[in-house]
Amino acid sequence: MSVLVMKFGGTSVGTTDRIKRAAKRVGREVANGHDVIVIVSAMSGKTNELVGWVDETSPLYDAREYDAVVSSGENVTAGLMALTLQEMDIPARSWQGWQVPLKTNGAHGAARIESIPTANLDARFADGMKVAVVAGFQGISPEGRITTLGRGGSDTTAVAFAAAFGAMRCDIYTDVDGVYTTDPRITSKARKLDRIAFEEMLELASLGAKVLQTRSVELAMRYKVKLRVLSSFDEYDETAGTLVCGEDEIMENNVVAGVAYSRDEAKMTLISVADRPGIAAAIFGPLAEAGVNVDMIVQNISEEGRTDMTFSCPVDQVKRAAKAMEDAKQRGEINYHDLVADTEVSKVSVVGIGMRSHAGVAARMFKALRDENVNIKVITTSEIKISVLIDRKYMELAVQALHDAFELEKAR
Ligand code: ASP
Ligand code: MG
Repeated sequence: MSVLVMKFGGTSVGTTDRIKRAAKRVGREVANGHDVIVIVSAMSGKTNELVGWVDETSPLYDAREYDAVVSSGENVTAGLMALTLQEMDIPARSWQGWQVPLKTNGAHGAARIESIPTANLDARFADGMKVAVVAGFQGISPEGRITTLGRGGSDTTAVAFAAAFGAMRCDIYTDVDGVYTTDPRITSKARKLDRIAFEEMLELASLGAKVLQTRSVELAMRYKVKLRVLSSFDEYDETAGTLVCGEDEIMENNVVAGVAYSRDEAKMTLISVADRPGIAAAIFGPLAEAGVNVDMIVQNISEEGRTDMTFSCPVDQVKRAAKAMEDAKQRGEINYHDLVADTEVSKVSVVGIGMRSHAGVAARMFKALRDENVNIKVITTSEIKISVLIDRKYMELAVQALHDAFELEKAR
């Protein structure tokens, strides 16, 4: 029997009617001869409500009880989905994480999956069960407490089940019809991609294309789980959505797959720090300890033993970053003349595995920005990505210009 994993996000199970619609899709896959593992999210808005109740009750909450509360939304949808399938005469039952059991470590609120023994579900499939409906986002710790996997975690649950059961594919049903070349709200030329490579998706996911939890893509890449992102609202056909797959399965490549952005960035520069061994560690150690998510880092060429160090971080972490630097200065660990924060910047990136084999991508990107008179403040590159920091007021313009420059409106 081939196993198919189908995951339904919060909007796809947001009402009992929507659960019925989702159940019909499941029924069709059962009719196609698959054993199906359905992973459900909580009804849309539910998890936020539960988190709010925890915060109201106990601002410095016990993370174990936080997990006990916020995991409950998925229990409701799992039971309702199983009931709906039973109403359709499809043999189905629900499973909470601990019943499977989906075993995690003890990091409450952001637990890591350790293993998913398949024996329990397999025995029921062998017994005639057609659909196992599993509550996403939750597991059980070594101490036997309920854990959650972090917000958006049911994507990761779905991929982990697909890996554990050797599923032929993992279909992620959501409220968008796939992965786009860029945000369609920024340019109407944005186009749905039929296929995208894991590495590209990883870059796009972490750059703010919020379709899939980043961890789920990492996991899919590691275990070579074919992932398909598709809408639960559109009419279904075999080619629906975007397939996230290995690059060997992508025949024709545009050099660039997509343009990503991150709107609310800040650029911070430490002016005139001593250029000596250990200075980067002395700066970025305290920033890491303060929980600042540093992204780009640029160190200038030094003059007379002193240099400027620039880094970017999310704009809402600027105060925390500044305090970490001032404290380090107080302790005598670093010494700088001034700390300058530019809180009006955005990051725009072009991403594509084709960059590995094509020269001139950076030049084409910089020319497109020049033609729009957009000044670049910081540049960083990786094997398959080029990112620039620019003034926030030009962000949309830059995304549009790059989308045009790399002809992303044309099918790859
Ligand atoms: N319900 C959880 C959340 O909203 C998990 C998920 O839907 O992926 O974060
Ligand atoms: Mg989600």
